[in-house]
Amino acid sequence: MSTTKVKVAENAAKFIQQDDIHEKLHDQNLWNVRMRRDTVASAIPEWEELRTLASRIKEHTLTHLDEYVLQFADNAEKRGIKVHWASTAEDHNRIVYEILASHQVKRLVKSKSMLQEECHMAPYLEKRGITLTETDLGERIQQLSGQDPSHIVMPAIHQTKEDIAKLFAEKIGTDPNKVDANYLTEAMRNNARPKFLEAEATMTGANFAIAETGSFVVCTNEGNADLGAAIAPLHIASIGIEKMVPKVEDMGVFIRLLSRSAVGTAATQYTSHFSGPRKGTEMHIILTDHGRSHRLGLEDFWSSLKCIRCGACMNTCPVYRRSGGLSYGATYSGPIGIILDPSYDEDKYSELPFHSSLCGSCTEVCPVRIDIAEQIVKWRKVMSAKKKLPVGLRLAFGVTGTVFKYPWVFRTAEAAGKWALKFAPDALIYNKTLNAWGRQRKLPEFADQTFRDWYLKNRNKEPKA
Ligand code: SF4
Repeated sequence: MSTTKVKVAENAAKFIQQDDIHEKLHDQNLWNVRMRRDTVASAIPEWEELRTLASRIKEHTLTHLDEYVLQFADNAEKRGIKVHWASTAEDHNRIVYEILASHQVKRLVKSKSMLQEECHMAPYLEKRGITLTETDLGERIQQLSGQDPSHIVMPAIHQTKEDIAKLFAEKIGTDPNKVDANYLTEAMRNNARPKFLEAEATMTGANFAIAETGSFVVCTNEGNADLGAAIAPLHIASIGIEKMVPKVEDMGVFIRLLSRSAVGTAATQYTSHFSGPRKGTEMHIILTDHGRSHRLGLEDFWSSLKCIRCGACMNTCPVYRRSGGLSYGATYSGPIGIILDPSYDEDKYSELPFHSSLCGSCTEVCPVRIDIAEQIVKWRKVMSAKKKLPVGLRLAFGVTGTVFKYPWVFRTAEAAGKWALKFAPDALIYNKTLNAWGRQRKLPEFADQTFRDWYLKNRNKEPKA
């Protein structure tokens, strides 16, 4: 993995400055999803209790994860599913390739799996001669664009209809002047159908793995996972070990939360339980760790493993909505990315925790009550303690610390600042080099009198320092 530091603010600036359309549309589209989420959530009186219950089920499962993973594997094997164990991304990819090679698979269709994205599986297989087709529409758009997904639920949300019409015209021969969403979707469907029929294998991820049954659940809105699994003679599912839930009845809680939080609909169009191979076919599961055990041992960050990948925290985040997901330079972007990515590589993702307004909206919408904003602050502390802060922030925090530490310095700075803001605001506040914060902002008028001056005048005594 490359350790070149991701310059998330620089990347976001490029996204914003490319034109007048992309940022505004991205912001608006995601905000619409957030509003739909609010509408459907508020229609359920026990919504907050559901969130609490989901959080408790996940916390219970994670604190007994060894038992549940083994129970799941045992029950899956009893159903005729072949279970494999992968501790790293390399293990995962090697196992997938070995299964495919042993079945002489050359053509593979797959539905969306963030775990497979984490493992960078697609390029690994393509290098070894496997033709891989993404079947989720958004993922297919990203595959044809040569880009990673920018959102965990809507992978191509940063692209406009015009972008997609141009891409499809180049790659699958559609009319470049037709930007109608139905036309484009239909064209991709017609392009994808033969690939389902030709594929010798299919791959899925899993939204949930049920320990008591050994079955797994895949939620999609396009039915592409089901179509692949219904046709191909070989089905491989990549499952992160944190996907466990103890019982089938737990699904009643998570299914009610997932789609409402993700896209503001009551349920995904397809919620499929896979409980073993069809007659004459094979089903394999790769139970994958890839950093999850490490994260489980991090006292401040283990609860991020509760995440059910709904994307609600991204949709609501004012910084994500204006940055575009690709700016984060990681598999996971937005608030959930900020708390997951540094656990893989603290150097590479050291700027991510500072790409947040800390408004707390992410914590408010998370269906499994992950304290996302609090974890972002904790990651800032980690970066600060390990001296990984961006230079500008290190200087600013050093100066601010001194100002707040000594009352006389504070008073001097207050007087100097007031003067400077009055006579040289461009140098101090709107300086593009010194102060990134000020670039997009206008300060309100400053009051003539500070609170300290007012207090001294009206109370006629020195406040306690
Ligand atoms: S952190 Fe919460 S809101 Fe964000 S993707 Fe995960 S479950 Fe959804």
